Amino acid sequence: MRPSLLQYLKLLILLAFGGVTTTHVPKPDVPSSLEALPVDGHFSFHDVFAAARDFGNMYSFPPVAVLHPSSVADIATTVRHVFLMGEHSTLTVAARGHGHSLYGQSQAAGGIVIRMESLQSNGMRVHPGASPYIDASGGELWINVLHETLKYGLAPKSWTDYLHLTVGGTLSNAGVSGQTFRHGPQISNVDELEIVTGRGDIITCSPEQNSDLFHAALGGLGQFGIITRARIALEPAPKMVRWIRVLYIGFRKLRRRPGNAHFRRENIRLY
Ligand SMILES: Cc1cc2nc3c(=O)[nH]c(=O)nc-3n(C[C@H](O)[C@H](O)[C@H](O)COP(=O)(O)OP(=O)(O)OC[C@H]3O[C@@H](n4cnc5c(N)ncnc54)[C@H](O)[C@@H]3O)c2cc1C
Repeated sequence: MRPSLLQYLKLLILLAFGGVTTTHVPKPDVPSSLEALPVDGHFSFHDVFAAARDFGNMYSFPPVAVLHPSSVADIATTVRHVFLMGEHSTLTVAARGHGHSLYGQSQAAGGIVIRMESLQSNGMRVHPGASPYIDASGGELWINVLHETLKYGLAPKSWTDYLHLTVGGTLSNAGVSGQTFRHGPQISNVDELEIVTGRGDIITCSPEQNSDLFHAALGGLGQFGIITRARIALEPAPKMVRWIRVLYIGFRKLRRRPGNAHFRRENIRLY
Protein backbone atom coordinates (compact mmCIF):
# COMPACT_ATOMS: atom_id res chain seq x y z
CA MET A 1 0.00 0.00 0.00
CA ARG A 2 1.42 3.40 -0.98
CA PRO A 3 1.63 6.09 1.71
CA SER A 4 -0.94 8.84 1.26
CA LEU A 5 -0.14 12.51 0.77
CA LEU A 6 -1.20 13.14 4.37
CA GLN A 7 1.31 10.58 5.62
CA TYR A 8 4.10 12.26 3.61
CA LEU A 9 3.05 15.59 5.09
CA LYS A 10 3.18 14.17 8.65
CA LEU A 11 6.67 12.76 7.99
CA LEU A 12 7.82 16.14 6.68
CA ILE A 13 6.50 17.89 9.80
CA LEU A 14 8.18 15.32 12.06
CA LEU A 15 11.51 15.76 10.24
CA ALA A 16 11.20 19.53 10.27
CA PHE A 17 10.45 19.74 13.99
CA GLY A 18 12.77 16.95 15.16
CA GLY A 19 10.24 14.18 15.73
CA VAL A 20 8.54 13.41 19.04
CA THR A 21 10.82 15.10 21.48
CA THR A 22 11.03 13.73 25.01
CA THR A 23 13.86 15.89 26.27
CA HIS A 24 13.14 19.34 27.64
CA VAL A 25 16.10 21.60 28.06
CA PRO A 26 15.92 23.16 31.52
CA LYS A 27 17.26 26.61 32.30
CA PRO A 28 20.98 26.32 33.13
CA ASP A 29 20.51 27.84 36.60
CA VAL A 30 17.94 25.24 37.71
CA PRO A 31 20.41 22.63 39.05
CA SER A 32 22.39 25.22 41.03
CA SER A 33 19.21 26.74 42.48
CA LEU A 34 18.12 23.25 43.62
CA GLU A 35 21.54 22.47 45.05
CA ALA A 36 21.28 25.60 47.20
CA LEU A 37 18.03 24.40 48.84
CA PRO A 38 18.32 23.38 52.51
CA VAL A 39 17.16 19.74 52.32
CA ASP A 40 17.89 16.80 54.64
CA GLY A 41 18.02 14.40 51.68
CA HIS A 42 19.72 15.15 48.38
CA PHE A 43 19.21 15.88 44.70
CA SER A 44 20.82 13.79 41.99
CA PHE A 45 21.45 15.39 38.62
CA HIS A 46 23.36 12.72 36.72
CA ASP A 47 21.87 9.29 37.49
CA VAL A 48 18.34 10.44 36.57
CA PHE A 49 17.53 7.89 33.86
CA ALA A 50 15.87 5.37 36.19
CA ALA A 51 13.29 8.11 36.84
CA ALA A 52 12.71 8.36 33.07
CA ARG A 53 11.26 4.83 32.88
CA ASP A 54 8.14 3.13 34.11
CA PHE A 55 6.43 -0.26 33.93
CA GLY A 56 4.80 0.57 30.60
CA ASN A 57 8.20 1.13 28.98
CA MET A 58 6.62 3.29 26.29
CA TYR A 59 7.68 6.79 27.29
CA SER A 60 10.96 8.13 28.56
CA PHE A 61 11.14 11.71 29.80
CA PRO A 62 14.47 12.42 31.54
CA PRO A 63 14.11 14.90 34.42
CA VAL A 64 16.71 17.53 35.25
CA ALA A 65 16.89 16.29 38.85
CA VAL A 66 15.66 13.59 41.20
CA LEU A 67 14.94 14.52 44.80
CA HIS A 68 15.63 11.77 47.35
CA PRO A 69 13.74 13.26 50.30
CA SER A 70 14.62 12.38 53.87
CA SER A 71 11.70 14.34 55.27
CA VAL A 72 8.34 15.78 54.33
CA ALA A 73 9.94 19.22 54.73
CA ASP A 74 12.32 18.36 51.84
CA ILE A 75 9.33 17.88 49.56
CA ALA A 76 7.63 21.06 50.79
CA THR A 77 10.83 23.10 50.32
CA THR A 78 11.28 21.83 46.76
CA VAL A 79 7.67 22.35 45.69
CA ARG A 80 7.61 25.85 47.24
CA HIS A 81 10.82 26.69 45.36
CA VAL A 82 9.21 25.69 42.06
CA PHE A 83 5.98 27.55 42.96
CA LEU A 84 7.94 30.74 43.66
CA MET A 85 9.48 30.58 40.17
CA GLY A 86 6.12 31.88 39.04
CA GLU A 87 3.48 30.87 36.58
CA HIS A 88 5.71 31.38 33.53
CA SER A 89 8.19 28.74 34.70
CA THR A 90 7.82 25.47 32.79
CA LEU A 91 9.58 23.42 35.47
CA THR A 92 7.32 20.56 36.54
CA VAL A 93 7.36 18.22 39.54
CA ALA A 94 6.17 14.60 39.64
CA ALA A 95 5.96 12.23 42.58
CA ARG A 96 7.25 8.77 41.74
CA GLY A 97 6.04 5.79 43.74
CA HIS A 98 7.22 2.40 42.48
CA GLY A 99 7.02 3.55 38.84
CA HIS A 100 4.33 1.01 37.92
CA SER A 101 2.27 3.39 35.82
CA LEU A 102 2.19 2.78 32.09
CA TYR A 103 2.19 6.14 30.27
CA GLY A 104 4.88 8.21 31.96
CA GLN A 105 2.55 9.60 34.66
CA SER A 106 5.31 9.52 37.28
CA GLN A 107 7.86 11.19 35.00
CA ALA A 108 8.68 14.90 34.58
CA ALA A 109 10.27 15.94 31.30
CA GLY A 110 13.10 18.32 32.19
CA GLY A 111 11.53 18.72 35.62
CA ILE A 112 11.98 17.27 39.09
CA VAL A 113 11.02 13.73 40.06
CA ILE A 114 10.48 13.12 43.77
CA ARG A 115 11.45 9.58 44.67
CA MET A 116 8.79 8.88 47.31
CA GLU A 117 10.30 5.54 48.35
CA SER A 118 13.08 7.50 50.08
CA LEU A 119 10.43 8.45 52.67
CA GLN A 120 9.78 4.79 53.56
CA SER A 121 12.29 4.89 56.40
CA ASN A 122 10.13 7.39 58.28
CA GLY A 123 8.41 4.45 59.98
CA MET A 124 4.86 3.21 60.28
CA ARG A 125 2.64 3.41 63.36
CA VAL A 126 -0.15 0.93 63.98
CA HIS A 127 -2.98 2.07 66.27
CA PRO A 128 -4.95 -0.97 67.45
CA GLY A 129 -8.29 -0.43 69.17
CA ALA A 130 -11.96 -0.32 68.29
CA SER A 131 -11.30 1.36 64.90
CA PRO A 132 -7.73 0.33 64.14
CA TYR A 133 -5.59 2.18 61.62
CA ILE A 134 -2.00 2.60 60.46
CA ASP A 135 -0.17 5.81 59.61
CA ALA A 136 2.12 5.07 56.68
CA SER A 137 4.34 7.19 54.48
CA GLY A 138 3.15 7.92 50.93
CA GLY A 139 6.27 6.16 49.66
CA GLU A 140 5.68 2.96 51.61
CA LEU A 141 5.07 -0.27 49.70
CA TRP A 142 1.80 -2.05 50.51
CA ILE A 143 3.72 -5.28 51.12
CA ASN A 144 5.54 -3.54 54.00
CA VAL A 145 2.24 -2.17 55.33
CA LEU A 146 0.91 -5.73 55.43
CA HIS A 147 3.96 -7.10 57.26
CA GLU A 148 3.75 -4.33 59.85
CA THR A 149 0.01 -4.67 60.53
CA LEU A 150 0.18 -8.48 60.71
CA LYS A 151 2.37 -8.07 63.82
CA TYR A 152 -0.83 -6.83 65.50
CA GLY A 153 -3.12 -9.42 63.89
CA LEU A 154 -4.51 -6.67 61.62
CA ALA A 155 -4.61 -5.98 57.87
CA PRO A 156 -5.86 -3.14 55.66
CA LYS A 157 -9.50 -3.52 54.70
CA SER A 158 -8.90 -2.91 51.00
CA TRP A 159 -5.97 -3.97 48.87
CA THR A 160 -4.45 -4.09 45.48
CA ASP A 161 -3.87 -7.66 44.31
CA TYR A 162 -0.24 -6.82 43.59
CA LEU A 163 1.44 -5.39 46.69
CA HIS A 164 4.71 -3.95 45.38
CA LEU A 165 3.05 -0.59 44.73
CA THR A 166 3.27 2.48 46.96
CA VAL A 167 0.58 3.87 49.24
CA GLY A 168 0.68 7.27 47.48
CA GLY A 169 0.78 5.69 44.01
CA THR A 170 -2.38 3.62 44.40
CA LEU A 171 -4.26 6.24 46.45
CA SER A 172 -3.66 8.62 43.55
CA ASN A 173 -5.49 6.14 41.34
CA ALA A 174 -8.04 3.95 43.18
CA GLY A 175 -6.56 0.69 44.44
CA VAL A 176 -8.73 -2.20 43.39
CA SER A 177 -8.61 -5.81 44.50
CA GLY A 178 -10.64 -8.83 45.57
CA GLN A 179 -11.96 -6.96 48.64
CA THR A 180 -13.30 -4.01 46.66
CA PHE A 181 -16.73 -5.60 46.27
CA ARG A 182 -17.03 -5.61 50.08
CA HIS A 183 -15.16 -2.50 51.30
CA GLY A 184 -14.80 -0.36 48.18
CA PRO A 185 -11.42 0.58 46.63
CA GLN A 186 -8.48 1.67 48.78
CA ILE A 187 -9.41 5.34 48.37
CA SER A 188 -12.66 4.60 50.26
CA ASN A 189 -10.71 3.24 53.23
CA VAL A 190 -8.54 6.21 54.18
CA ASP A 191 -9.28 8.30 57.29
CA GLU A 192 -6.77 11.09 56.85
CA LEU A 193 -4.00 12.34 54.55
CA GLU A 194 -1.01 14.60 54.91
CA ILE A 195 -0.39 16.47 51.67
CA VAL A 196 2.20 18.85 50.30
CA THR A 197 0.19 21.23 48.15
CA GLY A 198 1.29 22.99 44.95
CA ARG A 199 2.33 25.99 47.05
CA GLY A 200 4.55 23.84 49.22
CA ASP A 201 2.29 23.91 52.29
CA ILE A 202 1.97 20.78 54.44
CA ILE A 203 -1.75 20.22 55.08
CA THR A 204 -3.58 17.53 57.04
CA CYS A 205 -6.96 16.68 55.54
CA SER A 206 -9.80 14.25 56.17
CA PRO A 207 -13.54 14.00 55.41
CA GLU A 208 -14.06 16.59 58.19
CA GLN A 209 -10.96 18.81 57.80
CA ASN A 210 -9.96 20.40 54.45
CA SER A 211 -12.32 17.91 52.87
CA ASP A 212 -12.06 19.38 49.32
CA LEU A 213 -8.35 18.64 49.26
CA PHE A 214 -8.91 15.18 50.79
CA HIS A 215 -11.40 14.12 48.14
CA ALA A 216 -9.45 15.73 45.30
CA ALA A 217 -6.16 14.06 46.20
CA LEU A 218 -7.69 10.57 46.48
CA GLY A 219 -7.79 9.34 42.91
CA GLY A 220 -6.32 12.69 41.81
CA LEU A 221 -3.35 11.30 39.84
CA GLY A 222 -0.94 13.45 41.85
CA GLN A 223 -2.42 16.68 40.44
CA PHE A 224 -3.71 18.09 43.75
CA GLY A 225 -0.66 17.61 45.91
CA ILE A 226 1.80 15.00 47.04
CA ILE A 227 0.56 12.45 49.58
CA THR A 228 3.23 12.19 52.24
CA ARG A 229 1.23 10.23 54.84
CA ALA A 230 -1.99 8.23 54.82
CA ARG A 231 -4.09 6.94 57.70
CA ILE A 232 -5.37 3.58 56.47
CA ALA A 233 -8.30 1.71 58.02
CA LEU A 234 -7.53 -1.80 59.31
CA GLU A 235 -9.51 -4.86 60.35
CA PRO A 236 -8.62 -8.17 62.03
CA ALA A 237 -6.56 -10.23 59.61
CA PRO A 238 -8.20 -13.54 58.80
CA LYS A 239 -6.19 -16.63 59.73
CA MET A 240 -6.93 -18.16 56.36
CA VAL A 241 -8.54 -16.97 53.13
CA ARG A 242 -9.88 -18.70 50.06
CA TRP A 243 -8.65 -17.18 46.80
CA ILE A 244 -10.90 -17.75 43.82
CA ARG A 245 -10.27 -16.31 40.40
CA VAL A 246 -13.46 -16.10 38.39
CA LEU A 247 -13.51 -15.61 34.64
CA TYR A 248 -16.82 -14.22 33.40
CA ILE A 249 -17.88 -15.01 29.89
CA GLY A 250 -19.17 -11.48 29.28
CA PHE A 251 -20.02 -8.24 31.07
CA ARG A 252 -23.72 -9.08 31.29
CA LYS A 253 -22.81 -12.27 33.14
CA LEU A 254 -20.55 -10.31 35.50
CA ARG A 255 -23.45 -8.04 36.42
CA ARG A 256 -25.50 -11.06 37.46
CA ARG A 257 -24.22 -11.71 40.94
CA PRO A 258 -24.75 -14.78 43.11
CA GLY A 259 -28.03 -14.31 44.91
CA ASN A 260 -29.45 -12.81 41.75
CA ALA A 261 -32.12 -15.10 40.37
CA HIS A 262 -30.51 -14.95 36.91
CA PHE A 263 -27.12 -16.15 38.11
CA ARG A 264 -26.10 -19.48 36.66
CA ARG A 265 -22.97 -21.35 37.70
CA GLU A 266 -22.21 -22.22 34.09
CA ASN A 267 -21.67 -18.49 33.36
CA ILE A 268 -18.39 -18.48 35.23
CA ARG A 269 -15.26 -20.55 35.32
CA LEU A 270 -13.55 -21.14 38.68
CA TYR A 271 -9.78 -21.53 39.01
C1 LIG B 1 2.20 -5.42 37.77
C2 LIG B 1 1.13 -4.43 38.16
C3 LIG B 1 0.12 -4.85 39.00
C4 LIG B 1 -0.90 -3.96 39.37
N1 LIG B 1 -1.89 -4.41 40.19
C5 LIG B 1 -2.87 -3.58 40.54
C6 LIG B 1 -3.94 -4.04 41.38
O1 LIG B 1 -3.98 -5.17 41.81
N2 LIG B 1 -4.90 -3.12 41.71
C7 LIG B 1 -4.85 -1.83 41.28
O2 LIG B 1 -5.74 -1.04 41.64
N3 LIG B 1 -3.87 -1.38 40.47
C8 LIG B 1 -2.90 -2.22 40.09
N4 LIG B 1 -1.92 -1.76 39.26
C9 LIG B 1 -1.94 -0.37 38.83
C10 LIG B 1 -1.24 0.48 39.88
O3 LIG B 1 -2.07 0.63 40.99
C11 LIG B 1 -0.96 1.86 39.37
O4 LIG B 1 -0.16 1.75 38.22
C12 LIG B 1 -0.24 2.70 40.43
O5 LIG B 1 -0.19 4.01 39.99
C13 LIG B 1 1.16 2.20 40.62
O6 LIG B 1 1.65 2.65 41.86
P1 LIG B 1 3.15 3.14 41.95
O7 LIG B 1 3.48 3.18 43.41
O8 LIG B 1 4.05 2.36 41.09
O9 LIG B 1 2.95 4.64 41.43
P2 LIG B 1 3.66 5.41 40.22
O10 LIG B 1 3.47 4.66 38.96
O11 LIG B 1 5.05 5.75 40.58
O12 LIG B 1 2.79 6.74 40.21
C14 LIG B 1 1.46 6.70 39.74
C15 LIG B 1 0.84 8.10 39.74
O13 LIG B 1 0.66 8.54 41.07
C16 LIG B 1 1.43 9.71 41.31
N5 LIG B 1 2.00 9.55 42.64
C17 LIG B 1 2.88 8.60 43.08
N6 LIG B 1 3.12 8.75 44.38
C18 LIG B 1 2.37 9.81 44.79
C19 LIG B 1 2.19 10.47 46.03
N7 LIG B 1 2.81 10.05 47.13
N8 LIG B 1 1.35 11.53 46.08
C20 LIG B 1 0.70 11.97 44.97
N9 LIG B 1 0.84 11.38 43.78
C21 LIG B 1 1.66 10.32 43.68
C22 LIG B 1 2.47 9.75 40.21
O14 LIG B 1 2.92 11.06 39.96
C23 LIG B 1 1.71 9.16 39.06
O15 LIG B 1 0.85 10.10 38.48
C24 LIG B 1 -0.90 -2.63 38.87
C25 LIG B 1 0.13 -2.20 38.03
C26 LIG B 1 1.13 -3.10 37.67
C27 LIG B 1 2.21 -2.62 36.74
